[in-house]
Amino acid sequence: MFSTTGNIVYVGLGSNLDNPVHQVEQALRTLETLPATELKTHSTLYRSTPLGQQNQPDYINAVAVLHTELRPLALLDELQVIENQQGRVRKVRWGPRTLDLDMLLYDQKQLQSPRLTLPHLGLYERAFVLYPLYECAPDLVLPNGQRVCDLIRSSEGLCWREVHHLK
Ligand code: ATP
Ligand code: MG
Ligand code: MG
Repeated sequence: MFSTTGNIVYVGLGSNLDNPVHQVEQALRTLETLPATELKTHSTLYRSTPLGQQNQPDYINAVAVLHTELRPLALLDELQVIENQQGRVRKVRWGPRTLDLDMLLYDQKQLQSPRLTLPHLGLYERAFVLYPLYECAPDLVLPNGQRVCDLIRSSEGLCWREVHHLK
């Protein structure tokens, strides 16, 4: 197995089409095969109600922790290949999808470029991201100095939606 201490990346996974539990589990298996990358751990699965249009199925969410030697854009390319392999079609913003892979954090990097914003813009305010992230890294401090546990605890301003622990 490839072994690296590399850059620590947190990836948010989401799916609400075509057997979402299977989609997330399949994506986790594929993340294990990425070049120059090691899947260190992942959260359990969570169920959440949708952002955007409400007449779509609930989502299954999780967070994966990678150690990688890939640069951020090279990793984004790999994540988008996996989305496409699993039949991702982009029609409506926040519309239903077989798989969404968002790069939540790449070390403590802060970046704004046409294809990639780090940390991911939704990170600070999405409960369905913060809960599984907290499960993976309870002591994590975000690039703006905030701690994930504090964001969860002081739920003010947080996009509170129904999030259930699935298994
Ligand atoms: P949201 O980003 O609000 O969760 P979404 O995940 O549905 O919405 P996508 O259609 O998956 O949005 O992605 C739209 C574009 O966002 C991608 O083509 C990608 O270039 C860009 N993007 C910017 N920053 C990131 C990031 N940190 N992780 C993944 N994609 C990103
Ligand atoms: Mg997303
Ligand atoms: Mg996305």
